[in-house]
Amino acid sequence: MTTVKSVKTLQLYINGEWVDAKSGEFFDVISPATGEVIYRAANGRADDAKRAIDASYSAFPKWSKISSKERAAILFRLYQLMHENLEDLAQTISNEMGKPIKQARGEVMNAAEYVLWNAEEGKRIYGTTIKGFEENKRLQVIKQPVGPVAAITPWNFPLAMVTRKISPALASGCTLVLKPAEQTPGSAAKFFELAEKAGVPKGVINLVTGSPAEIGDAFLSDKRIRKITFTGSTRVGKLLMKKATDQVKRVSMELGGHAPFIVFEDADIDQTVSSIMKSKYFNCGQTCISPNRIYVQESVKEKFLTKLKEKVESLQIGYGLEEQVDLGPVVSQAGLEKVKSHVKDAVQKGAVLISGGDEFPVQGYENGYFYLPTILADVNEEMQIANEETFGPVAAVLTFKTEDEVIEKANNSDYGLAAYCFTKDLSRSVRVSEALEYGMVGINDTVMSQVQGPFGGIKESGLGREGGPNGLADFLETKFISTII
Ligand code: ADP
Repeated sequence: MTTVKSVKTLQLYINGEWVDAKSGEFFDVISPATGEVIYRAANGRADDAKRAIDASYSAFPKWSKISSKERAAILFRLYQLMHENLEDLAQTISNEMGKPIKQARGEVMNAAEYVLWNAEEGKRIYGTTIKGFEENKRLQVIKQPVGPVAAITPWNFPLAMVTRKISPALASGCTLVLKPAEQTPGSAAKFFELAEKAGVPKGVINLVTGSPAEIGDAFLSDKRIRKITFTGSTRVGKLLMKKATDQVKRVSMELGGHAPFIVFEDADIDQTVSSIMKSKYFNCGQTCISPNRIYVQESVKEKFLTKLKEKVESLQIGYGLEEQVDLGPVVSQAGLEKVKSHVKDAVQKGAVLISGGDEFPVQGYENGYFYLPTILADVNEEMQIANEETFGPVAAVLTFKTEDEVIEKANNSDYGLAAYCFTKDLSRSVRVSEALEYGMVGINDTVMSQVQGPFGGIKESGLGREGGPNGLADFLETKFISTII
Protein backbone atom coordinates (compact mmCIF):
# COMPACT_ATOMS: atom_id res chain seq x y z
CA MET A 1 0.00 0.00 0.00
CA THR A 2 1.36 3.37 -0.89
CA THR A 3 0.50 7.02 -1.22
CA VAL A 4 3.40 7.78 -3.63
CA LYS A 5 2.07 8.72 -7.07
CA SER A 6 5.09 8.05 -9.31
CA VAL A 7 3.23 5.96 -11.92
CA LYS A 8 -0.18 6.58 -13.44
CA THR A 9 -2.97 6.36 -10.90
CA LEU A 10 -6.54 5.15 -11.34
CA GLN A 11 -9.41 6.63 -9.40
CA LEU A 12 -12.86 5.59 -8.30
CA TYR A 13 -15.88 6.71 -10.32
CA ILE A 14 -18.69 7.79 -8.02
CA ASN A 15 -21.73 9.81 -8.95
CA GLY A 16 -20.20 10.87 -12.25
CA GLU A 17 -16.90 12.08 -10.72
CA TRP A 18 -13.41 10.57 -10.74
CA VAL A 19 -12.27 10.65 -7.13
CA ASP A 20 -9.58 9.23 -4.86
CA ALA A 21 -10.42 6.81 -2.08
CA LYS A 22 -11.33 8.60 1.18
CA SER A 23 -8.21 7.10 2.76
CA GLY A 24 -6.00 8.51 -0.01
CA GLU A 25 -4.45 5.04 -0.39
CA PHE A 26 -3.52 3.26 -3.62
CA PHE A 27 -2.54 -0.33 -4.38
CA ASP A 28 -0.08 -1.58 -6.99
CA VAL A 29 -1.19 -3.28 -10.19
CA ILE A 30 1.50 -5.58 -11.55
CA SER A 31 2.09 -6.68 -15.14
CA PRO A 32 2.22 -10.49 -15.14
CA ALA A 33 4.67 -10.40 -18.05
CA THR A 34 7.24 -7.96 -16.66
CA GLY A 35 6.55 -8.09 -12.92
CA GLU A 36 6.57 -4.27 -12.92
CA VAL A 37 4.04 -1.95 -11.37
CA ILE A 38 1.99 -0.61 -14.29
CA TYR A 39 -0.24 1.70 -12.31
CA ARG A 40 -1.64 2.33 -8.87
CA ALA A 41 -5.33 2.07 -8.27
CA ALA A 42 -7.38 3.78 -5.58
CA ASN A 43 -7.72 1.49 -2.59
CA GLY A 44 -11.41 1.90 -1.89
CA ARG A 45 -12.87 0.75 1.40
CA ALA A 46 -16.30 0.45 3.03
CA ASP A 47 -16.83 4.23 3.18
CA ASP A 48 -16.14 4.53 -0.56
CA ALA A 49 -18.50 1.63 -1.29
CA LYS A 50 -21.16 3.44 0.71
CA ARG A 51 -20.68 6.64 -1.31
CA ALA A 52 -21.10 4.58 -4.47
CA ILE A 53 -24.26 2.92 -3.14
CA ASP A 54 -25.66 6.34 -2.18
CA ALA A 55 -25.13 7.46 -5.78
CA SER A 56 -26.71 4.35 -7.32
CA TYR A 57 -29.67 4.59 -4.96
CA SER A 58 -30.30 8.27 -5.76
CA ALA A 59 -30.01 7.67 -9.51
CA PHE A 60 -32.35 4.66 -9.55
CA PRO A 61 -35.80 6.32 -9.61
CA LYS A 62 -35.00 8.39 -12.68
CA TRP A 63 -33.01 5.76 -14.59
CA SER A 64 -35.64 3.08 -13.99
CA LYS A 65 -38.30 5.34 -15.49
CA ILE A 66 -36.70 6.82 -18.60
CA SER A 67 -37.89 5.20 -21.77
CA SER A 68 -36.34 1.90 -22.74
CA LYS A 69 -35.61 3.43 -26.14
CA GLU A 70 -33.51 6.14 -24.55
CA ARG A 71 -31.59 3.58 -22.50
CA ALA A 72 -31.04 1.51 -25.63
CA ALA A 73 -29.70 4.55 -27.49
CA ILE A 74 -27.09 5.18 -24.77
CA LEU A 75 -26.05 1.53 -24.82
CA PHE A 76 -25.84 1.57 -28.61
CA ARG A 77 -23.56 4.61 -28.45
CA LEU A 78 -21.45 2.77 -25.90
CA TYR A 79 -21.19 -0.22 -28.24
CA GLN A 80 -19.95 2.08 -30.99
CA LEU A 81 -17.42 3.75 -28.69
CA MET A 82 -16.06 0.35 -27.67
CA HIS A 83 -15.39 -0.41 -31.32
CA GLU A 84 -13.84 3.01 -31.93
CA ASN A 85 -11.53 2.38 -28.95
CA LEU A 86 -10.97 -1.30 -29.62
CA GLU A 87 -7.18 -1.18 -29.77
CA ASP A 88 -6.80 0.91 -26.63
CA LEU A 89 -9.14 -1.41 -24.70
CA ALA A 90 -7.37 -4.51 -26.02
CA GLN A 91 -3.93 -3.16 -25.03
CA THR A 92 -5.18 -2.34 -21.55
CA ILE A 93 -6.50 -5.88 -21.09
CA SER A 94 -3.35 -7.49 -22.41
CA ASN A 95 -1.09 -5.25 -20.36
CA GLU A 96 -2.79 -5.85 -17.04
CA MET A 97 -3.58 -9.56 -17.22
CA GLY A 98 -1.21 -10.86 -19.88
CA LYS A 99 -3.40 -12.38 -22.60
CA PRO A 100 -2.19 -12.22 -26.23
CA ILE A 101 -3.32 -9.06 -27.97
CA LYS A 102 -5.20 -11.06 -30.64
CA GLN A 103 -7.31 -12.62 -27.91
CA ALA A 104 -7.74 -9.29 -26.15
CA ARG A 105 -9.20 -7.83 -29.35
CA GLY A 106 -11.60 -10.76 -29.47
CA GLU A 107 -12.60 -10.06 -25.88
CA VAL A 108 -13.38 -6.42 -26.66
CA MET A 109 -15.60 -7.47 -29.57
CA ASN A 110 -17.34 -10.04 -27.43
CA ALA A 111 -17.76 -7.53 -24.59
CA ALA A 112 -19.27 -5.03 -27.02
CA GLU A 113 -21.67 -7.67 -28.37
CA TYR A 114 -23.20 -7.98 -24.90
CA VAL A 115 -23.77 -4.22 -24.83
CA LEU A 116 -25.49 -4.29 -28.22
CA TRP A 117 -27.55 -7.39 -27.46
CA ASN A 118 -28.80 -5.99 -24.16
CA ALA A 119 -29.52 -2.62 -25.74
CA GLU A 120 -31.88 -4.46 -28.06
CA GLU A 121 -33.32 -6.77 -25.40
CA GLY A 122 -34.12 -3.80 -23.15
CA LYS A 123 -36.70 -2.66 -25.67
CA ARG A 124 -38.46 -6.02 -25.47
CA ILE A 125 -39.42 -6.52 -21.85
CA TYR A 126 -42.75 -8.30 -21.93
CA GLY A 127 -45.43 -8.91 -19.34
CA THR A 128 -48.51 -11.13 -19.62
CA THR A 129 -52.22 -10.96 -19.01
CA ILE A 130 -54.02 -13.99 -17.63
CA LYS A 131 -57.70 -14.79 -17.91
CA GLY A 132 -59.23 -14.84 -14.42
CA PHE A 133 -62.11 -17.04 -13.22
CA GLU A 134 -64.42 -14.05 -12.73
CA GLU A 135 -65.66 -11.74 -15.45
CA ASN A 136 -64.90 -8.59 -13.47
CA LYS A 137 -61.28 -9.47 -12.84
CA ARG A 138 -58.19 -8.52 -14.84
CA LEU A 139 -54.95 -10.30 -14.05
CA GLN A 140 -51.60 -8.95 -15.18
CA VAL A 141 -47.94 -9.80 -14.71
CA ILE A 142 -45.44 -6.97 -15.19
CA LYS A 143 -41.65 -6.85 -15.04
CA GLN A 144 -39.79 -4.17 -13.13
CA PRO A 145 -36.08 -3.55 -12.50
CA VAL A 146 -34.87 -5.17 -9.27
CA GLY A 147 -33.23 -1.97 -8.02
CA PRO A 148 -29.61 -0.94 -7.43
CA VAL A 149 -27.30 -3.88 -8.16
CA ALA A 150 -23.81 -4.70 -6.90
CA ALA A 151 -21.43 -6.48 -9.26
CA ILE A 152 -18.10 -8.16 -8.49
CA THR A 153 -16.01 -9.32 -11.43
CA PRO A 154 -12.84 -11.38 -12.00
CA TRP A 155 -9.58 -10.66 -13.84
CA ASN A 156 -9.63 -13.35 -16.56
CA PHE A 157 -11.99 -11.40 -18.85
CA PRO A 158 -11.65 -7.96 -17.29
CA LEU A 159 -13.84 -6.21 -19.84
CA ALA A 160 -16.32 -8.87 -20.99
CA MET A 161 -17.30 -9.82 -17.43
CA VAL A 162 -17.98 -6.15 -16.74
CA THR A 163 -20.22 -5.65 -19.78
CA ARG A 164 -22.02 -8.94 -19.17
CA LYS A 165 -23.24 -7.49 -15.90
CA ILE A 166 -23.49 -3.77 -16.53
CA SER A 167 -25.29 -3.92 -19.87
CA PRO A 168 -28.24 -6.13 -18.82
CA ALA A 169 -28.54 -4.14 -15.59
CA LEU A 170 -28.72 -0.85 -17.47
CA ALA A 171 -31.06 -2.21 -20.13
CA SER A 172 -33.42 -3.45 -17.41
CA GLY A 173 -33.48 -0.06 -15.68
CA CYS A 174 -31.20 -0.94 -12.77
CA THR A 175 -28.34 1.18 -11.46
CA LEU A 176 -25.12 -0.47 -10.39
CA VAL A 177 -21.95 -0.39 -8.32
CA LEU A 178 -18.99 -2.42 -9.58
CA LYS A 179 -15.97 -3.83 -7.84
CA PRO A 180 -13.61 -5.25 -10.47
CA ALA A 181 -10.75 -7.63 -9.63
CA GLU A 182 -7.73 -6.03 -8.00
CA GLN A 183 -5.49 -7.38 -10.80
CA THR A 184 -7.46 -5.57 -13.53
CA PRO A 185 -8.91 -2.20 -12.52
CA GLY A 186 -7.63 -0.54 -15.71
CA SER A 187 -10.04 -2.24 -18.14
CA ALA A 188 -12.98 -1.33 -15.92
CA ALA A 189 -11.81 2.28 -15.67
CA LYS A 190 -11.54 2.56 -19.48
CA PHE A 191 -15.04 1.14 -19.84
CA PHE A 192 -16.41 3.70 -17.37
CA GLU A 193 -14.74 6.54 -19.32
CA LEU A 194 -16.54 5.35 -22.44
CA ALA A 195 -19.83 4.92 -20.60
CA GLU A 196 -19.59 8.51 -19.42
CA LYS A 197 -18.95 9.65 -23.02
CA ALA A 198 -21.89 7.57 -24.24
CA GLY A 199 -24.15 9.52 -21.91
CA VAL A 200 -24.78 7.16 -18.98
CA PRO A 201 -26.09 9.68 -16.42
CA LYS A 202 -24.18 10.34 -13.21
CA GLY A 203 -24.78 7.90 -10.40
CA VAL A 204 -26.20 5.23 -12.69
CA ILE A 205 -22.97 3.23 -12.69
CA ASN A 206 -20.21 3.55 -10.12
CA LEU A 207 -16.78 2.00 -9.84
CA VAL A 208 -15.05 1.10 -6.58
CA THR A 209 -11.66 -0.59 -6.72
CA GLY A 210 -9.93 -1.77 -3.58
CA SER A 211 -10.28 -4.09 -0.62
CA PRO A 212 -12.44 -7.06 -1.78
CA ALA A 213 -13.82 -8.19 1.56
CA GLU A 214 -14.52 -4.69 2.86
CA ILE A 215 -16.26 -3.56 -0.30
CA GLY A 216 -18.10 -6.86 -0.67
CA ASP A 217 -19.36 -6.64 2.92
CA ALA A 218 -20.46 -3.04 2.40
CA PHE A 219 -22.47 -4.13 -0.67
CA LEU A 220 -24.06 -7.06 1.10
CA SER A 221 -24.94 -5.34 4.35
CA ASP A 222 -26.67 -2.39 2.67
CA LYS A 223 -30.41 -2.86 2.28
CA ARG A 224 -30.53 -0.51 -0.70
CA ILE A 225 -28.61 -3.03 -2.82
CA ARG A 226 -31.23 -5.47 -4.01
CA LYS A 227 -29.12 -7.89 -5.95
CA ILE A 228 -25.56 -9.13 -6.20
CA THR A 229 -24.14 -10.46 -9.44
CA PHE A 230 -20.78 -12.19 -9.18
CA THR A 231 -18.32 -14.01 -11.40
CA GLY A 232 -15.39 -15.71 -9.69
CA SER A 233 -14.42 -18.70 -7.63
CA THR A 234 -16.93 -21.06 -6.04
CA ARG A 235 -15.25 -20.38 -2.70
CA VAL A 236 -15.95 -16.64 -2.78
CA GLY A 237 -19.35 -17.17 -4.44
CA LYS A 238 -20.50 -19.33 -1.52
CA LEU A 239 -19.28 -16.71 0.93
CA LEU A 240 -21.25 -13.99 -0.86
CA MET A 241 -24.35 -16.17 -1.07
CA LYS A 242 -24.25 -16.82 2.67
CA LYS A 243 -24.02 -13.11 3.37
CA ALA A 244 -26.77 -12.33 0.84
CA THR A 245 -29.21 -14.51 2.77
CA ASP A 246 -29.44 -11.99 5.64
CA GLN A 247 -31.47 -9.63 3.49
CA VAL A 248 -32.66 -12.21 0.97
CA LYS A 249 -30.89 -10.34 -1.81
CA ARG A 250 -31.25 -11.67 -5.33
CA VAL A 251 -28.06 -13.46 -6.45
CA SER A 252 -26.55 -14.37 -9.81
CA MET A 253 -23.44 -16.50 -9.56
CA GLU A 254 -21.07 -17.53 -12.34
CA LEU A 255 -18.63 -19.74 -10.45
CA GLY A 256 -15.91 -22.27 -11.11
CA GLY A 257 -16.02 -25.23 -13.43
CA HIS A 258 -14.20 -28.46 -14.17
CA ALA A 259 -15.15 -29.17 -17.74
CA PRO A 260 -15.01 -32.70 -19.13
CA PHE A 261 -14.06 -32.90 -22.79
CA ILE A 262 -15.00 -36.25 -24.30
CA VAL A 263 -13.33 -37.50 -27.47
CA PHE A 264 -15.06 -40.53 -29.00
CA GLU A 265 -13.17 -42.77 -31.43
CA ASP A 266 -15.40 -41.64 -34.31
CA ALA A 267 -14.52 -37.96 -33.80
CA ASP A 268 -12.62 -35.98 -36.40
CA ILE A 269 -9.32 -35.92 -34.53
CA ASP A 270 -7.88 -32.93 -36.43
CA GLN A 271 -10.96 -30.86 -35.64
CA THR A 272 -10.90 -32.05 -32.02
CA VAL A 273 -7.26 -31.09 -31.57
CA SER A 274 -7.81 -27.71 -33.13
CA SER A 275 -10.76 -27.09 -30.76
CA ILE A 276 -8.60 -28.02 -27.79
CA MET A 277 -5.98 -25.55 -28.96
CA LYS A 278 -8.67 -22.85 -29.05
CA SER A 279 -10.09 -23.69 -25.63
CA LYS A 280 -7.46 -25.29 -23.40
CA TYR A 281 -4.62 -22.92 -24.31
CA PHE A 282 -6.86 -19.90 -24.92
CA ASN A 283 -6.32 -17.22 -22.25
CA CYS A 284 -3.49 -19.45 -20.96
CA GLY A 285 -6.08 -21.94 -19.71
CA GLN A 286 -7.55 -19.32 -17.39
CA THR A 287 -11.24 -19.67 -18.17
CA CYS A 288 -13.96 -21.32 -16.12
CA ILE A 289 -15.07 -23.32 -19.17
CA SER A 290 -11.57 -24.53 -20.07
CA PRO A 291 -11.42 -28.31 -20.70
CA ASN A 292 -10.06 -29.74 -17.46
CA ARG A 293 -10.49 -33.46 -17.98
CA ILE A 294 -9.92 -34.60 -21.52
CA TYR A 295 -11.38 -38.11 -21.79
CA VAL A 296 -10.12 -39.85 -24.91
CA GLN A 297 -11.47 -43.22 -26.04
CA GLU A 298 -8.61 -45.72 -25.70
CA SER A 299 -8.40 -46.70 -29.36
CA VAL A 300 -7.56 -43.14 -30.48
CA LYS A 301 -5.35 -42.11 -27.59
CA GLU A 302 -1.99 -42.35 -29.40
CA LYS A 303 -3.23 -40.62 -32.54
CA PHE A 304 -4.77 -37.84 -30.45
CA LEU A 305 -1.68 -37.27 -28.31
CA THR A 306 0.66 -37.21 -31.31
CA LYS A 307 -1.41 -34.56 -33.09
CA LEU A 308 -1.95 -32.50 -29.94
CA LYS A 309 1.76 -32.51 -29.09
CA GLU A 310 2.66 -31.28 -32.55
CA LYS A 311 0.25 -28.33 -32.29
CA VAL A 312 1.16 -27.49 -28.70
CA GLU A 313 4.85 -27.33 -29.49
CA SER A 314 4.24 -24.81 -32.25
CA LEU A 315 2.68 -22.24 -29.87
CA GLN A 316 4.57 -18.97 -29.46
CA ILE A 317 4.96 -18.04 -25.80
CA GLY A 318 5.72 -14.49 -24.77
CA TYR A 319 4.68 -10.95 -23.96
CA GLY A 320 1.01 -10.59 -24.85
CA LEU A 321 1.40 -7.23 -26.53
CA GLU A 322 3.68 -8.75 -29.20
CA GLU A 323 1.51 -9.55 -32.20
CA GLN A 324 2.76 -13.09 -32.92
CA VAL A 325 2.31 -14.39 -29.37
CA ASP A 326 -0.21 -17.23 -28.82
CA LEU A 327 0.29 -17.84 -25.12
CA GLY A 328 1.00 -15.19 -22.48
CA PRO A 329 1.89 -15.57 -18.79
CA VAL A 330 -0.51 -16.75 -16.12
CA VAL A 331 -1.89 -13.88 -14.08
CA SER A 332 0.18 -14.04 -10.90
CA GLN A 333 2.85 -15.80 -8.90
CA ALA A 334 0.08 -17.56 -6.94
CA GLY A 335 -1.46 -18.70 -10.23
CA LEU A 336 1.90 -20.03 -11.38
CA GLU A 337 2.46 -21.90 -8.11
CA LYS A 338 -0.93 -23.60 -8.47
CA VAL A 339 -0.11 -24.79 -12.00
CA LYS A 340 3.27 -26.10 -10.85
CA SER A 341 1.79 -27.93 -7.89
CA HIS A 342 -0.94 -29.58 -9.99
CA VAL A 343 1.61 -30.83 -12.52
CA LYS A 344 3.98 -32.03 -9.79
CA ASP A 345 1.18 -33.86 -7.98
CA ALA A 346 0.04 -35.54 -11.21
CA VAL A 347 3.53 -36.66 -12.20
CA GLN A 348 4.22 -37.99 -8.70
CA LYS A 349 1.02 -40.03 -8.92
CA GLY A 350 1.94 -41.56 -12.29
CA ALA A 351 0.89 -39.11 -15.03
CA VAL A 352 3.14 -39.08 -18.09
CA LEU A 353 4.51 -35.76 -19.28
CA ILE A 354 4.03 -35.60 -23.05
CA SER A 355 5.06 -31.97 -23.47
CA GLY A 356 6.04 -28.95 -21.35
CA GLY A 357 5.86 -29.37 -17.60
CA ASP A 358 7.96 -26.42 -16.51
CA GLU A 359 8.23 -22.66 -16.19
CA PHE A 360 9.54 -20.92 -19.26
CA PRO A 361 11.93 -17.98 -19.08
CA VAL A 362 10.97 -15.62 -21.90
CA GLN A 363 13.97 -13.56 -22.99
CA GLY A 364 13.57 -9.97 -21.80
CA TYR A 365 10.68 -10.96 -19.49
CA GLU A 366 12.47 -13.06 -16.90
CA ASN A 367 10.21 -11.79 -14.10
CA GLY A 368 7.04 -12.87 -15.90
CA TYR A 369 4.85 -15.81 -14.85
CA PHE A 370 5.31 -17.94 -17.96
CA TYR A 371 4.61 -21.68 -18.03
CA LEU A 372 5.11 -24.01 -20.97
CA PRO A 373 1.97 -25.33 -22.65
CA THR A 374 1.78 -28.79 -21.16
CA ILE A 375 0.20 -32.16 -21.91
CA LEU A 376 -0.18 -34.84 -19.26
CA ALA A 377 -1.31 -38.33 -20.24
CA ASP A 378 -2.46 -41.21 -18.01
CA VAL A 379 -4.12 -38.81 -15.59
CA ASN A 380 -6.46 -40.45 -13.08
CA GLU A 381 -9.14 -39.35 -10.61
CA GLU A 382 -6.77 -39.47 -7.65
CA MET A 383 -4.84 -36.48 -8.95
CA GLN A 384 -5.59 -32.87 -7.95
CA ILE A 385 -5.71 -31.83 -11.57
CA ALA A 386 -8.65 -34.19 -12.18
CA ASN A 387 -10.73 -32.50 -9.49
CA GLU A 388 -9.66 -28.87 -9.06
CA GLU A 389 -9.46 -26.03 -11.55
CA THR A 390 -5.83 -25.61 -12.64
CA PHE A 391 -6.32 -22.27 -14.41
CA GLY A 392 -3.20 -22.83 -16.50
CA PRO A 393 -2.05 -24.17 -19.89
CA VAL A 394 -2.12 -27.85 -18.90
CA ALA A 395 -4.11 -30.47 -20.80
CA ALA A 396 -4.90 -33.44 -18.55
CA VAL A 397 -5.69 -36.52 -20.64
CA LEU A 398 -7.57 -39.54 -19.27
CA THR A 399 -8.92 -42.54 -21.16
CA PHE A 400 -12.19 -44.46 -21.25
CA LYS A 401 -13.68 -47.52 -22.92
CA THR A 402 -17.46 -47.06 -23.15
CA GLU A 403 -20.02 -44.29 -23.47
CA ASP A 404 -21.74 -45.16 -20.17
CA GLU A 405 -18.44 -45.19 -18.35
CA VAL A 406 -17.39 -41.78 -19.61
CA ILE A 407 -20.74 -40.16 -18.85
CA GLU A 408 -20.54 -41.39 -15.30
CA LYS A 409 -16.97 -40.12 -14.94
CA ALA A 410 -17.77 -36.78 -16.58
CA ASN A 411 -20.68 -36.17 -14.21
CA ASN A 412 -18.67 -37.13 -11.15
CA SER A 413 -17.91 -33.54 -10.16
CA ASP A 414 -19.33 -30.93 -7.82
CA TYR A 415 -19.14 -28.51 -10.73
CA GLY A 416 -21.60 -28.26 -13.61
CA LEU A 417 -20.62 -25.42 -15.91
CA ALA A 418 -19.48 -26.58 -19.38
CA ALA A 419 -18.88 -29.98 -20.96
CA TYR A 420 -17.81 -30.97 -24.46
CA CYS A 421 -18.39 -34.01 -26.62
CA PHE A 422 -16.62 -34.68 -29.92
CA THR A 423 -18.25 -37.29 -32.15
CA LYS A 424 -19.67 -37.69 -35.63
CA ASP A 425 -22.46 -39.96 -34.43
CA LEU A 426 -25.66 -37.88 -34.33
CA SER A 427 -27.60 -40.16 -31.98
CA ARG A 428 -24.70 -40.35 -29.58
CA SER A 429 -24.35 -36.58 -29.55
CA VAL A 430 -28.00 -36.27 -28.49
CA ARG A 431 -27.72 -39.00 -25.85
CA VAL A 432 -24.55 -37.60 -24.37
CA SER A 433 -25.59 -33.95 -24.38
CA GLU A 434 -28.81 -34.83 -22.56
CA ALA A 435 -27.00 -37.03 -20.03
CA LEU A 436 -24.28 -34.55 -19.10
CA GLU A 437 -25.10 -32.65 -15.90
CA TYR A 438 -23.80 -29.31 -17.06
CA GLY A 439 -25.32 -25.91 -17.83
CA MET A 440 -23.68 -25.80 -21.26
CA VAL A 441 -22.66 -28.57 -23.64
CA GLY A 442 -20.54 -28.16 -26.76
CA ILE A 443 -20.97 -30.78 -29.47
CA ASN A 444 -17.92 -30.54 -31.72
CA ASP A 445 -17.72 -26.96 -30.49
CA THR A 446 -16.05 -25.17 -27.62
CA VAL A 447 -17.27 -21.59 -28.04
CA MET A 448 -19.78 -21.11 -25.24
CA SER A 449 -19.51 -17.39 -24.66
CA GLN A 450 -21.86 -16.33 -27.44
CA VAL A 451 -24.24 -13.56 -26.61
CA GLN A 452 -27.23 -15.41 -28.10
CA GLY A 453 -26.82 -18.32 -25.67
CA PRO A 454 -27.56 -18.45 -21.93
CA PHE A 455 -24.17 -18.72 -20.21
CA GLY A 456 -24.14 -20.32 -16.77
CA GLY A 457 -23.87 -23.43 -14.71
CA ILE A 458 -25.64 -25.87 -12.44
CA LYS A 459 -24.53 -27.57 -9.19
CA GLU A 460 -21.68 -25.62 -7.55
CA SER A 461 -20.98 -23.70 -10.75
CA GLY A 462 -23.64 -21.15 -10.08
CA LEU A 463 -27.11 -19.71 -10.37
CA GLY A 464 -28.64 -17.68 -13.18
CA ARG A 465 -27.71 -17.11 -16.82
CA GLU A 466 -26.04 -14.27 -18.69
CA GLY A 467 -26.98 -13.45 -22.28
CA GLY A 468 -29.42 -15.44 -24.35
CA PRO A 469 -33.13 -14.95 -24.82
CA ASN A 470 -33.75 -14.48 -21.06
CA GLY A 471 -30.62 -12.50 -20.27
CA LEU A 472 -32.53 -9.68 -18.57
CA ALA A 473 -34.57 -12.00 -16.36
CA ASP A 474 -32.05 -11.90 -13.52
CA PHE A 475 -32.37 -8.11 -13.35
CA LEU A 476 -36.17 -7.98 -13.38
CA GLU A 477 -38.71 -8.66 -10.67
CA THR A 478 -42.08 -10.17 -11.44
CA LYS A 479 -45.13 -8.30 -10.16
CA PHE A 480 -48.64 -9.77 -10.26
CA ILE A 481 -51.48 -7.25 -10.41
CA SER A 482 -55.04 -8.39 -9.80
CA THR A 483 -57.77 -5.83 -10.55
CA ILE A 484 -61.51 -5.83 -9.97
CA ILE A 485 -63.14 -3.53 -12.44
P1 ADP B 1 -9.77 -15.71 -8.38
O1 ADP B 1 -9.27 -16.72 -7.40
O2 ADP B 1 -9.86 -16.19 -9.75
O3 ADP B 1 -9.09 -14.37 -8.27
P2 ADP B 1 -11.91 -14.78 -6.74
O4 ADP B 1 -13.22 -15.44 -6.54
O5 ADP B 1 -10.96 -14.74 -5.61
O6 ADP B 1 -11.29 -15.49 -8.00
O7 ADP B 1 -12.12 -13.29 -7.24
C1 ADP B 1 -13.17 -12.87 -8.05
C2 ADP B 1 -13.62 -11.52 -7.55
O8 ADP B 1 -14.06 -11.65 -6.21
C3 ADP B 1 -12.54 -10.44 -7.52
O9 ADP B 1 -13.09 -9.19 -7.87
C4 ADP B 1 -12.11 -10.44 -6.07
O10 ADP B 1 -11.56 -9.20 -5.64
C5 ADP B 1 -13.44 -10.68 -5.40
N1 ADP B 1 -13.35 -11.18 -4.00
C6 ADP B 1 -12.42 -11.99 -3.49
N2 ADP B 1 -12.68 -12.22 -2.18
C7 ADP B 1 -13.80 -11.52 -1.88
C8 ADP B 1 -14.59 -11.34 -0.67
N3 ADP B 1 -14.26 -11.93 0.46
N4 ADP B 1 -15.68 -10.54 -0.74
C9 ADP B 1 -16.03 -9.95 -1.91
N5 ADP B 1 -15.33 -10.08 -3.06
C10 ADP B 1 -14.24 -10.85 -3.05
